[in-house]
Amino acid sequence: MQDIERVDRCRVCGRDDWLDIISFGSAPLANGLLDPAADDADEQAYPLDVALCRECGLMSLRHIVNPEKLFRYFVWVSSDSALMTRHRQRVFGWCAEKSGMAAGDLVVEMGSNVGTQLALFQERGLRTVGVDPARNLARIANDRGVETVADFFGPEVTASIRETHGAAKLVMGHQCFAHIDDVHNVLDGVDRVLAPDGTLVIEVPYVLDLLDENQFDTIYHEHLSYYSLTTLSRLFASHGLPVVDVERADVHGGSIVVFAAREGSGRRPSARVADLLALEERRGLTTARPYLEFADRTRRTIDAIGDVVRGLAAEGKRIAGYGAPSKGSTLLQMCGLTPAEVQFCSDTTSFKQGKLLPGSRIPIRSPEQARAQAPDYYLLLAWNYAEEIIAKEQAFLDAGGRFIVPIPQPRIVDSALTASA
Ligand SMILES: [Zn+2]
Repeated sequence: MQDIERVDRCRVCGRDDWLDIISFGSAPLANGLLDPAADDADEQAYPLDVALCRECGLMSLRHIVNPEKLFRYFVWVSSDSALMTRHRQRVFGWCAEKSGMAAGDLVVEMGSNVGTQLALFQERGLRTVGVDPARNLARIANDRGVETVADFFGPEVTASIRETHGAAKLVMGHQCFAHIDDVHNVLDGVDRVLAPDGTLVIEVPYVLDLLDENQFDTIYHEHLSYYSLTTLSRLFASHGLPVVDVERADVHGGSIVVFAAREGSGRRPSARVADLLALEERRGLTTARPYLEFADRTRRTIDAIGDVVRGLAAEGKRIAGYGAPSKGSTLLQMCGLTPAEVQFCSDTTSFKQGKLLPGSRIPIRSPEQARAQAPDYYLLLAWNYAEEIIAKEQAFLDAGGRFIVPIPQPRIVDSALTASA
C-alpha cells in the first residue's frame, strides 16, 4: 500500500456513510522523533481527520498510514509503572475468573510488546506465545524467555501457532486492537487458534472516557478506531464471538476490557454487558450528538491550553513538558506550542532523550537534566499517570513548582494540591 490511504468503507460494518467530526489538519507521526543533527526540513505530515460511521457508530480516522511504517519499529514499550503493574495483575485475575484457564493451557497475545503481560501468565504456569510486528520489541521479549513471533497477527501466524502448540484457551490483545485496520483478518486469526471453550479478551481505550475527558490528544495516526462496547459487540458477533463480559479499567485514560466466547459455548453474558450497553444508549453513543459536542469542546480546550501556557511564558515562567508520550507530542502540536513556550520535555525513556518531538521540535531531556534546569511549571503530558507523577514529584511542588494538567480543562496544581482554573 501507499504511505497513506483514505478510508472509504467502515472497517467494522463495510458501509461508506461517514459524518465528519473534527479535522486536525496535517500532522507528522506522533512517534516520529527527530534527530537534531539530521536535515529534517522535509518532515512528512499526514491528514488527521476524524469521522463517525452512521451505520455502526465507529469513530475512526479517515486516513490510515501504512502499518509497515508505523509498527515494524515501535518506540512504545509497555510501562512498568505501579499503575500498569497493578492493572496487569487485575487483568490476569479477570482472565482466570472468566475463562476458567488452568496451568498448562495456552495463552496467545496479539501486540504483545516486550512480553510483560505474558510473563505474568508464564509465572502462573500457563504456556504462552506472543505476536508483535515490532522486530525490536519481539527481540526483547524472546530474550527474556517469552516466545514471540515478529509478525502481524492474522490467520497464517495463528494457524502455525495452533500447529505447533495446539488451541488457545485465551487469545488476548491489550491496547493494540484500536491500531488495526483489517480487524476481520485479525478475527479470522483468532478463529484459527481459539479453542471451542476459549475466550477472546480485547482491551481498548474507551470512547466514552475519551469524549467525557476531552482526550483529544489520544487522536493520532496509530489510533485508527475509537470503540464503544456497542460497536465492538457488533463486530465480534459478526465473527461468531458474542461478548460475554466487560470490565472498565482506569488505564490509558479509561479503557474497557471485553470478553467474548464462541457462539454455542453456552455462556450467558454478565449483567455488566447489558448495563454498559444501556449506558451507551443513554449517552447517545450511536448518534452524532456526543461526538459533535466533543469536537466543540476540543476546539475550546486547545485554545485554553495554548492561552494558559503562552500567558505563563509571557510572564517569564519557565515551562517544560513532563513526559514525551505520543499524546504529548500530539497535544503540543495541536496547541501550536514550540520551544519558545515549552523549553523541553523530560522523559525517562533513554532512546527518546536528545531527540526532538515531531512538529513542535521541542527537545527531549532526561529527568536529571530537567531537574538541573529547574522549570517553574511542568505541563503534564503523561496525564494518564497524573496521580503517580504528582506523588513522585512532591519535592518539586514543595519547592514552589507547579503542574499544568491540560485535560479535561487546563488547571494548575501546586503543593497544596489545590486546583484553580
Ligand atoms: Zn460502520
